[in-house]
Amino acid sequence: MKELVIISGKGGTGKTSIVAAFATLAENAVLADCDVDAADLHLVLDPTIVKRETFSGGSQARIMPERCTACGKCAEVCRFDAVSSREADEGQREKAYRIDPIACEGCGVCAWFCPEEAIEFAPAINGEWFVSETRAGPMVHAKLGIAEENSGKLVSLVRERARETAKSRARDLVLIDGSPGIGCPVIASITGADLALVVTEPTLSGRHDLERVSDLTRHFRVETLICINKWDINENLTLNIEALARRRGLKVAGRVRYDRAITEAQIRMQSITEYATDGVTADVRQLWANVLETLRSPNVTATGTTN
Ligand code: SF4
Ligand code: SF4
Repeated sequence: MKELVIISGKGGTGKTSIVAAFATLAENAVLADCDVDAADLHLVLDPTIVKRETFSGGSQARIMPERCTACGKCAEVCRFDAVSSREADEGQREKAYRIDPIACEGCGVCAWFCPEEAIEFAPAINGEWFVSETRAGPMVHAKLGIAEENSGKLVSLVRERARETAKSRARDLVLIDGSPGIGCPVIASITGADLALVVTEPTLSGRHDLERVSDLTRHFRVETLICINKWDINENLTLNIEALARRRGLKVAGRVRYDRAITEAQIRMQSITEYATDGVTADVRQLWANVLETLRSPNVTATGTTN
């Protein structure tokens, strides 16, 4: 089994359209949507959820009122301002303290300092993950709760469940829609993958983000290809990006032209290869063929390095 991750360094380069097209071209893949902060692959693939589970990426503090003497120490030491107090109801002690579950980072400092051992920890529910059926095959995806963190852990969980699904269903490819940016979620998306495809566009920010994200794949020793999406909106910058790729020893797997058909396909909840047979679809098919050729190369090892 091989793992192919598609990343972009930033949002808006058309990464998900490329992933959706690959999903409908691949013959025996499991899809892993690792863009857990703003997942949108489901908008094209219209999944039917067959399994749903909650995700806990940490724990949260809670004050046990029966033990609390309202000394205020926890509010004093919490550097996340998660502890607040209010005047207690008549007949009770002067103040009542509570911990805001959204602001609490679960660091444990308040419990350490509480003289009454009045603070306990419970698993925090940070989101949900799903296994679904789609017309392009099984898909593992997730949804992080609003203002929740720990998305790196959730990405790792999605990848692990996708691998398990691939093994149990005898699928030979895990196709990963990676997280944007260069932070923890994207690191969790790429580590251990066999091949990364970076989707970029000919803009200055696209070029800059390509440099940053290819630094990351090099650091984690993941073999990397480049796709220049909407290459014809600025041919000079496309040539400039190709020169950059050569200097870095990266192969450009394909250019994909700008075409309004991509948007029209999205509106109809179709991948571009389902929606159209010529024009940009030919570019995407050629890109897929080039990526597959590299992926099947005996030089791409399980750790993503080339021999
Ligand atoms: S430190 Fe403990 S006893 Fe003091 S207010 Fe906080 S929870 Fe209550
Ligand atoms: S666990 Fe940390 S963040 Fe949460 S209330 Fe206690 S000190 Fe604040």
